Amino acid sequence: MSTTAERPVRPAVRVTIPVGGMTCAACQASVQRALSKEPGVVDAAVNLMTESAAITFDPGVTTPEALVTAIERTGYEARLPASDQNAMAEQDARDAAHAIEYRALRRRATVSGIIGLIAMVVSMPLMAASPYGHAASDPLSQWIMRALMPPLRGAAPWLFAIDPRVLSWTLLAVTVFVMTWAGRHFYIRGWAGLRRRSPDMNTLIAIGTGAAFLYSVIATAAPGLFVRHGMAPDVYYEAVIIIIAFILAGNALEARAKRNTSSALRALANLQPRTARLERAGGDVDVPIEQVRRGDIVIVRPGERIPVDGEVVSGESAVDESMLTGEWLAVPKAPGALVTGGTINRTGAFRYRATTLGDDSVLARIVRVMRDAQASRAPIQALADRISAIFVPTVLTIAAATFVIWLVLAGEGAMARALAASVSVLIIACPCAMGLAVPTAVMVATGRGAQLGVLIKGGEALQRAGDVTLVALDKTGTVTEGRPTVTDVIALPNGAARDDSELLQLAASLESVSEHPLAEAIVRHARGRGLPVEAPTEFTAYPGRGVRATAMGRKVAIGNAALMTELGIDVSRLDGQLDAVASAGKTPVMLAVDGRLAGLLAITDPIRPTAAETVKALRQRGLGVVLITGDHERTALAIARQAGIDQVVAGVSPEGKVAEIERLRAAGNIVAMVGDGINDAPALASADVGIAIGTGTDVAIEAADVALMRGDPRGIVDAIDLSRRTMRTMRQNLFWAFVYNVIGIPIAAGALYPAFGILLNPIFASAAMAFSSVSVVTNSLRLRV
Ligand code: ADP
Ligand code: MG
Repeated sequence: MSTTAERPVRPAVRVTIPVGGMTCAACQASVQRALSKEPGVVDAAVNLMTESAAITFDPGVTTPEALVTAIERTGYEARLPASDQNAMAEQDARDAAHAIEYRALRRRATVSGIIGLIAMVVSMPLMAASPYGHAASDPLSQWIMRALMPPLRGAAPWLFAIDPRVLSWTLLAVTVFVMTWAGRHFYIRGWAGLRRRSPDMNTLIAIGTGAAFLYSVIATAAPGLFVRHGMAPDVYYEAVIIIIAFILAGNALEARAKRNTSSALRALANLQPRTARLERAGGDVDVPIEQVRRGDIVIVRPGERIPVDGEVVSGESAVDESMLTGEWLAVPKAPGALVTGGTINRTGAFRYRATTLGDDSVLARIVRVMRDAQASRAPIQALADRISAIFVPTVLTIAAATFVIWLVLAGEGAMARALAASVSVLIIACPCAMGLAVPTAVMVATGRGAQLGVLIKGGEALQRAGDVTLVALDKTGTVTEGRPTVTDVIALPNGAARDDSELLQLAASLESVSEHPLAEAIVRHARGRGLPVEAPTEFTAYPGRGVRATAMGRKVAIGNAALMTELGIDVSRLDGQLDAVASAGKTPVMLAVDGRLAGLLAITDPIRPTAAETVKALRQRGLGVVLITGDHERTALAIARQAGIDQVVAGVSPEGKVAEIERLRAAGNIVAMVGDGINDAPALASADVGIAIGTGTDVAIEAADVALMRGDPRGIVDAIDLSRRTMRTMRQNLFWAFVYNVIGIPIAAGALYPAFGILLNPIFASAAMAFSSVSVVTNSLRLRV
């Protein structure tokens, strides 16, 4: 009998559903809660900034359609994702949805604003007619009214002749229109949130305006009821309309500003040309980019954008890669050079062979990394989340308490004042500012980084980079160009190699399969001298030390002193030359053939022109700088001297680099490790912040927390500066969002009334709340420059 389980194991499926209309952290939490209660949902992650929900679900229990319906029940918009979840197409779709939403908000805000102004004018005669003189009004509004009343009487005396009841009923009708047309979503979402016991910002607005509206309706329909209880039958229709108008205006501004926070990503996604010109047997043809295949020959003319990644076959030109690397100088391209899709060909025309396409292309990878980074969370967000979680229930409680206290304590006009104060509390409270404080800053900063050629992989890396106290620099490829050249070939007299040529030929054959920059230099030098190079057999690499193999029928080893010692080869005969080469800042590499020392190659790798400047800038920011390398100590010291670095750790293997980083961290440093990602990936991973530095667009983007697209170490300083500024912005945002609520809510509740007689009009409260969330987004946008 079979023992296999009866129930088949169904694989979980993942889907990303775009969600529209979420304006605050509480709204996000509301959708999140609804989804996690949905049967069949394994995991749901709702993101406010990317406006999407990533859901893992059991396809046997639920479907994407059912999930869309579940989201729609919360009052937010959801639509089925497009079948091809291509990063660029997704961005386009989101942009289009955004534009529609922004225009709708703007239209509703404008229309309600105009209606609100008219309603205010129409309310004047009503207030004038009120026997209680609009008791709820604060001194400022009363002063404004007194100032406006006489000119209005003069300009439109007929208005004051109309029966106040007619005016009231007209206002009621207009308010119903504004509430159901412009403000409908506040009530639908607010109600849905309340029913699900996850009230959000919409609940506050709905209850606030709803209460003012109901009071006014009763005052209109049954004024006697109020009068009998000694209350003013005043109406607040104009307040309801203007509050809705202000909040919509705030949302519209916020939507526009939020759109700007992703402008850098949009700009990147738009770099991708839609067509490519291919060389075909029957002549050149223009084809859509999707039809380009690996190996196709692409033709690029001056001024055109390069459609896909590839390798130049013929022709010469200079290419502007600034959009990807931040490097303004055009990069010369000749046959053999790599070109990247999205960059702009400047001067010449050339043909190239397509290599990577679609999702594997450099541009698509950058866009993907950026998108994930922008949607990622910074650890500091946890603080905002804790506050947001209790924010709305707290505000509802305060509003209720405000109402009761006013009702009990205020004498004349108590009901009206209690209502005004509690509505103000509900309307002025702004959870949106709290929810937007951190994510908007992450979005803008990662976008800004990309413009500078500094690709920051997420909120966490962004936050940690600002706290770094020590920068560890790898030598080869970071402080130096990483494009080494052989300067001397020294065969030992009576050594294992007959002469320099044989020595070089053996070395090059051995290195022909190694990917190390030194290996490339040796092979290039041998080829330059016209020496034949044969692929070796039985190849072994010793990371950070060298390589060993059988080449041209002989057992050859090449590498540093550590490797020779390991292989039991005495190197004392070369001591003098070794020191001389290393003291000149060159890397000595020794060669042993058939177990005997054969000679030495001296390889120079010039220091990057901006290395010294970078070290100086890091020092000025109070950071320690240390050079870590597997190279010879004297070489390292010579390079360190040129770069202005005083701490050097030399002769370490890749594992030794990891150990060194761990030692530095244990000593209390927050360490950034900068390397080219070629054999220092473990060290990059073990540092607090791993920074990969590239040569042009050829960079190990995935290997680190931060990728410098431009082969310029100054990017390290840019990354740290950007991070520090971003953290400052986030703290400002959180501080203001918090302080705003802490000050605004008590004022709205009437805390200043006993001492100063100051009461806040709900209309001012709505203006303050709209201003508050817009100011947070605007503050984040300052990071763009
Ligand atoms: P770095 O720390 O400067 O990045 P590596 O860790 O890559 O340097 O290598 C350290 C040393 O190991 C080199 O300076 C060289 O002496 C030796 N080495 C490593 N790989 C090779 C190789 N393929 N051929 C020759 N020498 C090598
Ligand atoms: Mg290296």
